[in-house]
Amino acid sequence: MSLFSIAIHGGAGTILPQHMSADLQIAIETDLEIAVKAGHQILAQGGTAVDAVVAAVKVLEDSPHFNAGRGSVLTHQEMVEMDACIMSGENSEAGAVACVRHIKNPISLAYDVMKHSQHVLLMGDGAEEFAFEHGHIFTEQDYFFTDRRYDQLMAIKDSNLLALSEANYPDDDKHGTVGAVALDKYGNLAAATSTGGITNKKYGRVGDSPIIGAGTFAENGNVALSATGVGEYFLRKAVTADIAARMRYLNEDVHTACDAVILGELKNIGGEGGVIAVDRSGEVHFALNSTGMYRASIDRYGRLSVKIYA
Ligand code: ASP
Repeated sequence: MSLFSIAIHGGAGTILPQHMSADLQIAIETDLEIAVKAGHQILAQGGTAVDAVVAAVKVLEDSPHFNAGRGSVLTHQEMVEMDACIMSGENSEAGAVACVRHIKNPISLAYDVMKHSQHVLLMGDGAEEFAFEHGHIFTEQDYFFTDRRYDQLMAIKDSNLLALSEANYPDDDKHGTVGAVALDKYGNLAAATSTGGITNKKYGRVGDSPIIGAGTFAENGNVALSATGVGEYFLRKAVTADIAARMRYLNEDVHTACDAVILGELKNIGGEGGVIAVDRSGEVHFALNSTGMYRASIDRYGRLSVKIYA
């Protein structure tokens, strides 16, 4: 048994076999496997949990299949606006960005906010100015454009509907986003989340993903968590902070705490989605109340798992 493990997600939502082509399923599973292995390799070579979650999330941001970076959903104005967050459990350091429009890898920018700024959360033009000063790759909006996301927006643009990236368009209440959580050989936990948000969003809407304790949380000696689902519900329930608090104060194990919140508290107010977790011993847990969540892990025994459906 090794002392490290990693889990990733590529978004939760209404993901049903009958709506998935065989080609798309293979492409998604392949990218999940590449991403989880990228992070795991860093852990195996003695790298840190922080570096592992960044590496895994970057692979998912570069894929057109997930709602983050390249495959981000479109806003009402037919743009992408991305949010990302990273937290290190080692010393409760965190960095996040919101509403960035031209950054190829928002998770790397969040990392630089954590390491090279005095702040936790930067947004919009200010975040991009910081990115420029720190040498990040800028991309035109064209880079993020995919036909699939355009068609999804067109299906609901003229309505007031909002939709998660994995939805039965034009349904109004489904999901996407990517994230990673890891435990390294030194006992450090880390979590990272990156998203394009929800289709047809307006007014500078920001969800749970870049908010510490809502979409992303890590605490050494306890747990690392990354969420996906309709952010408004995860924000109101402070989902990842609540799971960590249950483990810290009630001594619940990672399975009990995640399920209590995702299948109980969150579901009870209508929140759909899920969370990935790695606890202090490297135990991995996936909790979801939706029909699917793109997910993968390599556990303490080195066992690879890649799954889509609930
Ligand atoms: N949680 C993300 C948000 O609300 C969306 C998602 O998970 O797909 O911005």
